[in-house]
Amino acid sequence: MNIAERVAQVYSQIPANVRLIAVTKQVDAQQIRQTYNQTKIRDFAENRLQSALEKKPMLQDLSDICWHFIGHLQSNKAKKVIQEFEWIHSVDNLALLQQLDKIALQNNLQRSICLQVKALSDPNKFGWTISQLQQEFAEIEKCQKSLSIRGLMTILPIGLSSEQKIAAFSTIRDLAKSLSASSTVTLDQLSMGMSGDYREAVACGATMIRLGQAIYSL
Ligand SMILES: *Cc1c(COP(=O)(O)O)cnc(C)c1O
Repeated sequence: MNIAERVAQVYSQIPANVRLIAVTKQVDAQQIRQTYNQTKIRDFAENRLQSALEKKPMLQDLSDICWHFIGHLQSNKAKKVIQEFEWIHSVDNLALLQQLDKIALQNNLQRSICLQVKALSDPNKFGWTISQLQQEFAEIEKCQKSLSIRGLMTILPIGLSSEQKIAAFSTIRDLAKSLSASSTVTLDQLSMGMSGDYREAVACGATMIRLGQAIYSL
């Protein structure tokens, strides 16, 4: 199967309102262009700033691409990431969130972000734990001068059963609901689901899925 066929297969399995984001960290600018030309995908994601800086200049004519940052973000790269990406899914601590809001304001840029949460304890993954997020939410809420806090993002540990994936994604969905109900923030986006678990994620209400391997058969 080629890219167009693999993308068509994914679209046939998800509701029309789920946003399919192509994760292009393992492919070059030419394959991004090919994806753009052969599919209706307009959302592309990178997890490293450097790699995005190398590819984006070659794609400048594709002006309706929406770029998403999905990797761990170090504070020294925050300004550049704010300038280069419309969405940041991987905001994983309060200090970073505060910094991003300040930089976006200084640069007069409006940006959408997701808060990265760990659905299960996983020492290898970045993100708030559920209880940390709840405790810090009053401070988090204040960071909307130039950021729009749109939803939650999660990455599950590998090796879970389908039932365990569903339980974990449902926990994140319910958390977004309860935080929205008890604050001024509307967390209506759920960035969850990768190639190995997007079916479960969509069943649990994912609004954005981030796929690499499923599109590029890596
Ligand atoms: C690489 C990556 C993906 C895509 O993973 P696949 O298994 O290739 O679909 C999604 N989200 C994040 C944060 C990633 O780093």
